[in-house]
Amino acid sequence: MTPSHTPPQKSDALRDAASGVPIVEPIIVPIVELSSIALTLESGAGEVNILRGIDLKVAPGERIGVVGPSGSGKSTMMMIAAGLERPSSGLVRIAGQDLAEMDEDDLALFRRDRIGIVFQSFHLVPTMTALENVAVPLEFAGRRDAFDRAAAALDEVDLSHRSTHYPGQLSGGEQQRVALARAVATEPDLLLADEPTGNLDGETGTAVIHLLFAMQERIGATLLLITHDPDLTARCGRVVRMKDGRITDGGMPS
Ligand code: ADP
Ligand code: MG
Repeated sequence: MTPSHTPPQKSDALRDAASGVPIVEPIIVPIVELSSIALTLESGAGEVNILRGIDLKVAPGERIGVVGPSGSGKSTMMMIAAGLERPSSGLVRIAGQDLAEMDEDDLALFRRDRIGIVFQSFHLVPTMTALENVAVPLEFAGRRDAFDRAAAALDEVDLSHRSTHYPGQLSGGEQQRVALARAVATEPDLLLADEPTGNLDGETGTAVIHLLFAMQERIGATLLLITHDPDLTARCGRVVRMKDGRITDGGMPS
């Protein structure tokens, strides 16, 4: 029997000395949590260890630059964070959700709602106009105002005057701005960008990055940006360094 003057303690939580009220620490769920990720692929010559034990935690709203030599595993790590590739072992949690528990359909819906991706080579649908390209994920999400939102997103990247043009009629910089509008139009929590300026000249690339950073801030997204450009990493809150399938620096928030 519990005497009424000593109520049972429900937890070991820290308590305020005067009032006895538990001190509640805010629990921040990382937007990206990769734990002991390995990826091993079979090749003709035997097994290839592409990722060899990746640990990465990213808090909501961070802007992370991912750097490392070509072939060090940057793109593969991003594909795993996007649920586009499954690791051989380890845990992938995005916004607190374990991607291993999702089937391909769940993953597609999860990406639709939470993740925006920009690739080096734009990946626009060549048979669709700029406006249609941006509207695709919004339509897929069942937004009735898909085309209005797409038009607003194209306006944000200063391409309203190109909305009826096809990718083949646009410059590289314009195509990447369309891809950016498409990635951000759904207001994802997580933006992934894999060398988004890699195919653009310096000035055009700078304009694309300027837009990317501005849109990230506007929607309050977390950004993982793979880049070789030190000017860009200088504008990131944290730099993650990769080498030979491992993170050598910057894997955890400071
Ligand atoms: P990075 O983006 O840092 O240049 P990647 O993640 O693209 O590196 O690739 C890491 C390594 O994995 C490279 O050696 C690459 O050749 C290899 N690799 C990536 N994807 C595959 C695949 N599907 N099959 C075989 N090897 C792959
Ligand atoms: Mg790459």
